[in-house]
Amino acid sequence: MTHSYDAPVSQTLFDRAAVVTPGGVNSPVRAFRAVGGTPRFMVSGTGPYLTDADGREYVDLVCSWGPMILGHAHPQVLAAVQDAVAHGLSFGTPGAGEVELAEEIVHRIEPVEQVRLVSSGTEATMSAIRLARGFTGRPKVIKFAGCYHGHVDALLAAAGSGVATFGLPDTPGVTGAQAGDTIVLPYNDIEAVRAAFAAHEGQIACVITEASPGNMGVVPPLPGFNQGLKDLCSANGALYISDEVMTGFRVSKAGWYGIDGVRPDLMTFGKVMGGGFPAAAFGGRADVMAHLAPAGPVYQAGTLSGNPIATAAGVTQLRLLDDAAYEKVDAVSAELRGLVSEALTKEGVAHRLQVAGNMFSVFFTDEDVTDYEKAKAQESFRFTPFFHSMLSQGVYLPPSAFESWFVSTAHDTQAVERIAAALPAAARAAAEATA
Ligand code: PLP
Repeated sequence: MTHSYDAPVSQTLFDRAAVVTPGGVNSPVRAFRAVGGTPRFMVSGTGPYLTDADGREYVDLVCSWGPMILGHAHPQVLAAVQDAVAHGLSFGTPGAGEVELAEEIVHRIEPVEQVRLVSSGTEATMSAIRLARGFTGRPKVIKFAGCYHGHVDALLAAAGSGVATFGLPDTPGVTGAQAGDTIVLPYNDIEAVRAAFAAHEGQIACVITEASPGNMGVVPPLPGFNQGLKDLCSANGALYISDEVMTGFRVSKAGWYGIDGVRPDLMTFGKVMGGGFPAAAFGGRADVMAHLAPAGPVYQAGTLSGNPIATAAGVTQLRLLDDAAYEKVDAVSAELRGLVSEALTKEGVAHRLQVAGNMFSVFFTDEDVTDYEKAKAQESFRFTPFFHSMLSQGVYLPPSAFESWFVSTAHDTQAVERIAAALPAAARAAAEATA
């Protein structure tokens, strides 16, 4: 099946890209492999809209995978960036912008007493794990199947079967040694975590979990799960690391912590806090952070960490994200969920709209999805025609059935109406799909 309608310029760019870049993209999901067809090469964004190289406009429900919570090209963020650019691009010294961004994070998120800025979510989780191991003097890490924490070697181990699997690398290039200290457990299964702590007494440095997972579709923690993790970590001398790269500053002013109140030892952030630039962070308990170089012995560094343009964009975006902004994003999210569900119900398509704050995704199943195995069991073949119908009608969804949808404060009535108008045909396409 080809879907290269209306995208000749994107197709030409994709062909050129494929010659000089593996798979034609710089991050795999952008290649549309899961849905087929030509990835759209975007040339500009304004508010809730993206325009591709062929001049077609789309309502954007990806928002750069989360960061663009104020919409594209927000005038105040642009102004802050232009002002910062005029003063120079990178100094390799401490700068005022780094202090402001760190203060903003620490003021918003109470368990974060100190924070270190880095350039990507991957760097943040990699550094947090190194710090947890350095602090505890222990080797092993617990993670959950279906949770993504960036492409850190040790975290690219995932269970293949929903049963606890020990140290099976998920990709060539990650050795058994790199993954061997990673224990992968089924998500939302607190008994499996208890059993792992018992089986590896004194060996587990930390549990890392997405605060509320969005990388297997949206699969929120069952009530008490995160608290259970925290309690098991405390009881066993391990650190509880909450990965808020996706949820941080998106689902509330204080991210998922602002919703469930479970106090992590360390947290990781990215996406929204960079305002569209490469900025990320990890932080938490001051006594743990004190082990980082130069204060302590655990080494961590970065040439462009705390870059002045990135921090200017991040600080400005965070300061604009007041209570009213979150109310707006929550309201648009609720409205869209209602519209999607209504359209699918009308066509008799079994589905679940799963929600975490204002993040949501559609699963083509009639069962609640609580872990990766259940996520994979959905009728994902229905997503492909649904996606392409929406795309052809000018709505840009994540090109995979296993991703969260993202909205922004810029998604106004007009944008929502465009989505509403596209949904009936897309729901029909999903209903007619065959495996
Ligand atoms: N952690 C989570 C929860 C994520 O969703 C992501 C990226 O999607 C990462 C870490 C990695 O962040 P980055 O892509 O900035 O390396």
